[in-house]
Amino acid sequence: MIISTGTASGKSLAYLTPAIASCLDGGTVLYLTPTKALAADQLRGLRELRIAQVRAACFDGDTPFEERTWVRQHANYVLTNPDMLHRGILPRHAQWSSFLRRLRMVVVDECHGYRGVFGSHVAQILRRLRRACARYSSHPTFLLASATASEPGAFAMRLTGLEMDEVTVDASPKGSTTIALWEPPLTELRGEGGAPVRRTATAEAADLLADLVLADVRTLAFIRSRRGAETVALSARAKLADVAFSISPPFPTPPAATTHTPPTPLPTPTNVPTPARTSGTPNLTPEGPQDPHKLQDLRSSRDPQDPQSLQERRSPQNPQDLRNPQDLQNPQDSQGAQNQQDSQGAQNPQSQRDLRNDPQSVQAQQGQQDIIAPQSPLSWAIPDAPHLPSSLDSGLADLPNKIAAYRAGYLAEDRRLLEKALRAGTIMGLATTNALELGVDVSGLDAVLIAGWPGTRASLWQQAGRAGRDGQDALAVLIARDDPLDTYLVHHPQALFGQPVEAIVLDPGNPYVLGPHLCAAAAEIPLTEDDLPIFGPTTPDVLADLVAQNLLRRRPGGWFWTRRERATDLADIRGGGGAPIQVVESSTGRLLGSVDEPSAHTTVHTGAIYLHQGETFLVELLDLEAGVALVSSANPDYTTFARDITDISILSTERSTALGSGTLHFGEVEVTRQVVSYLKRRLQSGEMLGDEPLELPPRTLRTRAVWWTLPASAVAPLAEAGIDLGGAAHAAEHASIGLLPLFATCDRWDIGGVSTELHADTGLLTVFVYDGHEGGAGFAERGYARATDWLTATREAILSCECERGCPSCIQSPKCGNGNEPLHKRGAVRLLDTLLSPQ
Ligand SMILES: [Zn+2]
Ligand SMILES: [Zn+2]
Repeated sequence: MIISTGTASGKSLAYLTPAIASCLDGGTVLYLTPTKALAADQLRGLRELRIAQVRAACFDGDTPFEERTWVRQHANYVLTNPDMLHRGILPRHAQWSSFLRRLRMVVVDECHGYRGVFGSHVAQILRRLRRACARYSSHPTFLLASATASEPGAFAMRLTGLEMDEVTVDASPKGSTTIALWEPPLTELRGEGGAPVRRTATAEAADLLADLVLADVRTLAFIRSRRGAETVALSARAKLADVAFSISPPFPTPPAATTHTPPTPLPTPTNVPTPARTSGTPNLTPEGPQDPHKLQDLRSSRDPQDPQSLQERRSPQNPQDLRNPQDLQNPQDSQGAQNQQDSQGAQNPQSQRDLRNDPQSVQAQQGQQDIIAPQSPLSWAIPDAPHLPSSLDSGLADLPNKIAAYRAGYLAEDRRLLEKALRAGTIMGLATTNALELGVDVSGLDAVLIAGWPGTRASLWQQAGRAGRDGQDALAVLIARDDPLDTYLVHHPQALFGQPVEAIVLDPGNPYVLGPHLCAAAAEIPLTEDDLPIFGPTTPDVLADLVAQNLLRRRPGGWFWTRRERATDLADIRGGGGAPIQVVESSTGRLLGSVDEPSAHTTVHTGAIYLHQGETFLVELLDLEAGVALVSSANPDYTTFARDITDISILSTERSTALGSGTLHFGEVEVTRQVVSYLKRRLQSGEMLGDEPLELPPRTLRTRAVWWTLPASAVAPLAEAGIDLGGAAHAAEHASIGLLPLFATCDRWDIGGVSTELHADTGLLTVFVYDGHEGGAGFAERGYARATDWLTATREAILSCECERGCPSCIQSPKCGNGNEPLHKRGAVRLLDTLLSPQ
């Protein structure tokens, strides 16, 4: 069964009820989620139910080894993730035999996250799980929970390989959400080829985030990249630091940071508009910024949940703090007293005046010269932030700490601290990648900012659905990035509203995915002819290949894994390809986090600016062999963007069809990419500062592509009309990459493209769009299936852009290897006309 309904519609209850019943009945339950954080959240919820017979436990990378045996032997409700199932549980199925024998139910939560290559891997892991269960004579029910998706039953069937029923009616009570489509203004700045540059979505998001937090509106900002999320947090914190400085006693002044041009006047502590002043904007907070004591509340709260205090709490007197499950279970307990104190302070009408008369404050006024940085571990990273006298009320100095950043790459304890602080309200504004979208239970939000199209309507509604506590009205703002798809969408709301959400695309038959899992399955229990149907129709061919490569041995009893290595190491299920690169601070040896190997070329190359939890680092050296990026703290006023060059050759054509005057193809290609340089762009404005060369090895990718060709007879008239064919094809390629995500549930970073006036393999003008994952991910295939709609939207997007000769909103690409040269906007429209006109 799959339940596919909106955020906070009660999906958890729907699977918890039968799952708990299974435990009470002597069975076991396996709960799968894409993230450890969500598993921890679920565990807390389960324990709060206080049902003695339910022995729930997490089993993931964070589970101490001494606890693992207990979990295997005694837990009847195990929460884990696909990675752990793949590497930790299935290979040791014998140790799990008593659990697997009694397995009644497998809950696959947030399963819309299992798309593309990752989803294809998970599909094969679930097939291995079914096979292991069959070994112990159990046939568990699979219960999937997903955000709204179209054809959820068909997706669930592809994911599990089982017949599926679907539940899609969402009858939960909801307040209304006001959705704003927000296009940042054009700036005076000029980008590549003199194109006008829009204010960045992240700059707009940072302003909005700071404003909303000041107005006491609990806000989550979804930012596409981890880097972006950190930039937004950093910049919003700087604005709050400005505010804190300007309102510090004795002469409050209006905060300088809030003087940009939002559509409405801003609530400031000295100017106290009601939050409901905007027509169409819901009254977000019953006790809004008009309450002058609210400020006092902010200033006096030095809550143990803020990141700094929490860091202090990690000191030796509290060594259990992060490990103790009780602590996770009751995040409120430890600061109950403190919160009470805060609310008393807020009710005290004298407190504002008291503060001014406070001898400490007077001392602070006199001590203005004596400037010391606030003691927050992060505050030093705020660019140009005025530092407050340390003797001043520390609550005010902590105002910037109301905003934090969150992303998936953080170490577990950092993640937990941020989640806790948000829950407790000590953090009011959180900038996050869609790491949070994958189910961490953040309730009680008033507003959601979505900086950049999140890739799918399903994600958009899911992210927007985070706002609105207890059925109250809420606000969601989609801020357009300077790219074709975002621009198209904010100008074509009909593409968002009243449209069905997308289907979730995955391709479990991808031989690059299936092969490693067949090896892993054979290592678990030798494969027999009877097993083959479980793994899909391509299995016999892939098995033959594995035997030819000496990975598996064919014997009369079946296929055997006979090598020393662990078969599970062959499958890299998060699609990273190779061991992750550790990011290490060179002066201290501190491990900041990790990035997967292919992204290392673009995110932590030598010279890259890398952000970690608001701190800015310069990558001194990327050592691919050692798997380490050495970084040092830095504070430059620019960010970096890696660029690569790409070569493509056709290996085989699987499908072809006529399209207008041209032909559309789908097939296998080999792509060679090399990161060759990086751009420096000024922070906030996006202004170009320069291009630095890099020496990194090329990476080869065998994948699937969709491509179209036009014969010389069709393009000759265009050339005669003065159109630069290369520039036109290039422009059409960029825009079509930008629009494919609307049809194929991917984001533009999942796909790549190559265009040429004359390709060696076709002998014709050719535009390729390929899946950026080994073996393909189903995106290009989807583009082939929806080609007419896709290319029509592409043409429409280029045509409707207000720029004259091309800009990032239509035909320029942020990851173009050629510096967006040549590009021909009008020519691209003519090419697409030729391609789309019926013959
Ligand atoms: Zn444009
Ligand atoms: Zn390009």
